[in-house]
Amino acid sequence: MASKRIVVGNMKMNLTAQEINKYLKVIEKKEYNNQVIFCPSSLYLPYFVGKTYGVGIQNIAAYENGAYTGEISALQAKSMHLDCTLIGHSERREYFKETDEVVRQKIKLSLQANLKVILCIGETEEERDSLKTYKVLKKQIVNALKGFEEKELKKIIIAYEPIWAIGTGKTPSNEEIKDTISFIKDIVKDSLHINMSVLYGGSVNEKNIASLNQIENIDGYLVGGASTKADKFMKIIEVVVNQ
Ligand code: PEP
Repeated sequence: MASKRIVVGNMKMNLTAQEINKYLKVIEKKEYNNQVIFCPSSLYLPYFVGKTYGVGIQNIAAYENGAYTGEISALQAKSMHLDCTLIGHSERREYFKETDEVVRQKIKLSLQANLKVILCIGETEEERDSLKTYKVLKKQIVNALKGFEEKELKKIIIAYEPIWAIGTGKTPSNEEIKDTISFIKDIVKDSLHINMSVLYGGSVNEKNIASLNQIENIDGYLVGGASTKADKFMKIIEVVVNQ
């Protein structure tokens, strides 16, 4: 997707309209050169569109359109000038029971609508402890991405997010992240014959970003909690954009 490293902020279901106003005042002081993507709650998306950063939705419906109360389609997101959507975040897989098939269907609809995709994958702590990480990641990748054409795959990037690292303050070592990213890139290359960018996500913050940013094969970061505090997120962005 991008040769420069990118930073994506997944703000989840956080911040009120008043807090978002304050947040926007802080972030609008900077130029982002399209290296940053904000994913606020869907209600606030229109406030973020048309700036020097990208804008993404946190989830889209698994249906094209119609009587699906409360859902937002990929086509609707695209028609509001959004750049991309997260798909397959572990919170959606766990709390909303999204299977690999649902994830694949959402990717298909996003690509049809010309919306770029950030596909989230990751292993649980139990899977990591029983040395199943690579097996789990391979299954998630292959099931989500099988059958797409090269021109479609070019609109997808992967966010590797170990579930045990999300919101816990724990991260894998830099060496482990490097090896896992390498594994993911190799799997994609071998099975789909394409080079794909891979982000890391899981407890990235303003304190560990300088160290994480030493990892050579990383293409950027997906930041959850720290993206909801404008000042902290700005510090992360500065490290990545000014490298
Ligand atoms: C996430 O949920 O995508 C995430 C990376 O969260 P956090 O940064 O809070 O661990």
